[in-house]
Amino acid sequence: MAKEDEIPDWVGAQEFYDKYDPKEILGRGVSSVVRRCVNKRTTQEYAVKIIDITPSDKMTSQEIEEVRNATLKEIDILKKVCGQENIIQLKDCYETKAFFFLVFDLMKKGELFDYLTEKVTLSEKETRKIMRALLEVVGFLHSQNILHRDLKPENILLDDNMNIKVTDFGFAIQIAPGQKLNEVCGTPGYLAPEIIECSMDPHHSGYGPAVDIWSAGVIMYTLLAGSPPFWHRKQMLMLRMILAGNYQFTSPEWDDRSDTVKDLISRMLVVNPEQRCSALEALSHPFFQQYVSAEVRHFSPYRRFKVLCVTVVAAMRIYCNYRRAKPVTKEVVKSDPYAVKPIRKLIDACAFKIYGHWVKKGQTQNRAALFENSPKTLLLSLAAEAEDMSQRAW
Ligand code: ADP
Ligand code: MG
Repeated sequence: MAKEDEIPDWVGAQEFYDKYDPKEILGRGVSSVVRRCVNKRTTQEYAVKIIDITPSDKMTSQEIEEVRNATLKEIDILKKVCGQENIIQLKDCYETKAFFFLVFDLMKKGELFDYLTEKVTLSEKETRKIMRALLEVVGFLHSQNILHRDLKPENILLDDNMNIKVTDFGFAIQIAPGQKLNEVCGTPGYLAPEIIECSMDPHHSGYGPAVDIWSAGVIMYTLLAGSPPFWHRKQMLMLRMILAGNYQFTSPEWDDRSDTVKDLISRMLVVNPEQRCSALEALSHPFFQQYVSAEVRHFSPYRRFKVLCVTVVAAMRIYCNYRRAKPVTKEVVKSDPYAVKPIRKLIDACAFKIYGHWVKKGQTQNRAALFENSPKTLLLSLAAEAEDMSQRAW
């Protein structure tokens, strides 16, 4: 016969399985697995995060208790932030002695991380849309003294309309106004310098909400450059780069980027948290202002005529430039493939496929170098691809 304390286990799990049909795995964490699931009655799809708190060889009972408490905190915060349009909504939740089931809206387009890996880099326009929503979330959280503490592209999901939804509140915490924290948590590449300092100095004065702005700055840089600002094969050296705020805008991707966007990033990636901008300051930066007036502009007949003239002149210029442009031949592709933008993108995409996301490019190393000693066949296939692309009038 089942022991008395086993009954709630079964009841909680049964309630979940009565209502939902779990399907394939969407993602995994240290002690959680996220699956697609279907509401049996409505056939509506959701995502369920199943957190395992069963005693096993892998975790001590103390660790299990920690996971349990952390999950209760995560649920509490998810309930507090419910309703913000760019935060994932917790729909349902079940607790048993062995598992937690947290049911969320399903984000079919997956993680921003995968989207970026596929696109390599994003335009300033797309970055503006994502960063505006992300900073609004951060501003909203900070107004309630909540710190996320694990902002990264893996924890930003995309809905059907490519709007972001911030997820994974596993490290989130609500503090008293002005309270400082010393607990070291987060993901190495996104850690603010003051968190790393806390790990090295037990007497450190602690960190506050500004750590989320640092992570948002790292995300913004990564979206535009396709690689993170702080990266080194050896983690210790990467942490040193973060502590020194040692990053650059020197890779070829930055050639085409505006000074405005670089200025905003450099206000977010400030080593001293007191001097780092807040979410509201970031949102009032010119990077987010420049298209607002254009969006509400009403066109008078004179203005319409002027726009028409400008359009015709621009079209003429583009046509003339096109006539003057040198054709992309096999020779050009062989001698300096990285100088040709579409080929650069192609090389980058290949590099991402082979090396994963974290390929660092600096002044002395770029992703083109990965191909410099490659067999002739690769260059020829690139040349063929380039010719094909030129025929498609890119
Ligand atoms: P962990 O705390 O284990 O990192 P997350 O909440 O970040 O757990 O979820 C892990 C992964 O599962 C995410 O990075 C994402 O790929 C996937 N995932 C989580 N929630 C959803 C969701 N609502 N819709 C689609 N995929 C999701
Ligand atoms: Mg996560």
